[in-house]
Amino acid sequence: MKINVSEIRRSHGLSQKLRLEDWGSVAELELTAPLEVDLKLTHVGSRILVEGTLQTRVRLACSRCAGDYDEPLEVRVEEQFLPHDSPELPQGEEFEVEQLCIFTYENDLIEIDEVIRQNLVASLPCRPLCAEACKGLCSQCGANLNEMACKCEVEPRIDPRWGALAELHDRAQSGTV
Ligand SMILES: [Zn+2]
Ligand SMILES: [Zn+2]
Repeated sequence: MKINVSEIRRSHGLSQKLRLEDWGSVAELELTAPLEVDLKLTHVGSRILVEGTLQTRVRLACSRCAGDYDEPLEVRVEEQFLPHDSPELPQGEEFEVEQLCIFTYENDLIEIDEVIRQNLVASLPCRPLCAEACKGLCSQCGANLNEMACKCEVEPRIDPRWGALAELHDRAQSGTV
């Protein structure tokens, strides 16, 4: 979506709102609730600041039990746009805008899609959990322990030092010592 900022570009300090109840889809994310966009674009110096929040739910796979679940996302956005020909941008062949964490715009039109996509993706948890108390999968039979208790025995962990002592005890009992 392109946002025309020619109005606020007329004077410093002017701002405009971008409010949407349902943004639509975002590549690579499975949204399970409408994406609510509440952003304010402000003309500050040579830049356009984009601030506000994004709210939705996204379908993720739990890192413990591998089950799908919905993660609520509420993301705080703070980004900046510079005109594509701004002298503030570094010049040169090697230069890539993405590395600056700054966006550029042309002809008074701001492309907001990438801002929204990047902010949502960056807010995803590194280790998604369907619930804080998720029991995960049994390491032996693979059963989902949230759904059932499997019959696998928890292996008794014998301290090897006690193991040696127990062996001595057994030999003493059988008269081989
Ligand atoms: Zn889980
Ligand atoms: Zn099991």
